[in-house]
Amino acid sequence: MRVLILSDIHANRTALEAVLHAAGQVDATWCLGDVVGYGPSPNECVALLKEQPNLVCLRGNHDAAAIGDLALDSFNPEARASLEWMRDLLDEATVKFLKSCPSHTSAEGFTLVHASPRQPMLEYLLDTHAAAENFDYFDTDHCFVGHTHVPVEFKMNPNTNRVSLHTLIPNTAYALKPRSIINPGSVGQPRDRDPRAAFAILDTGQGKWHHQRVEYDIPSVQKLMRAAHLPQRHVQRLETGW
Ligand code: ZN
Repeated sequence: MRVLILSDIHANRTALEAVLHAAGQVDATWCLGDVVGYGPSPNECVALLKEQPNLVCLRGNHDAAAIGDLALDSFNPEARASLEWMRDLLDEATVKFLKSCPSHTSAEGFTLVHASPRQPMLEYLLDTHAAAENFDYFDTDHCFVGHTHVPVEFKMNPNTNRVSLHTLIPNTAYALKPRSIINPGSVGQPRDRDPRAAFAILDTGQGKWHHQRVEYDIPSVQKLMRAAHLPQRHVQRLETGW
């Protein structure tokens, strides 16, 4: 089974289209949440996602806030401004879809969460200490997470139970062992100083997954964001990937 794993699209339709094109044919699509927030095209991103085969889609903190299920005061002022703009823009079909998405689930023997197994909506898994504690909160071999916008794999040594952090090389295949927590990075708002859209392709038959990056037309998205008067910092960070 070939699965496209996406996270943190953040209303960036151009990046999403580039990822779908680069991924090619897949048997299923798993989206780890934050479909909306920051970017200019939330409804278009949800509509495009819904067309994908065997879609599993989680609700991230931005999705929850955009539909009024999470208070806006947990966001910084710029993120809040973009969420307020988005709340008025979301159409009925988008709201209905986001309301139907769970914050965590499992598929084909993999745990899927937006933020962390311990706190599916809010915790940032950035270091081995937090990751090590989170291995106790899921019982499958592997867990896919998003939320930090940084592609990374945390591996647990089966002999010592020590957890190590591995940064990922773009367009490289990795074996699915030992036990791990994998973040495929962000489609629409990368924050690892690589502005290209990030995603993963999981091959369950081969026991492997690929970390992939693809370029997209960043200036055209920035133009849409400026026209919508979205925060300048969010416009700028698309081109630096930070
Ligand atoms: Zn996000």
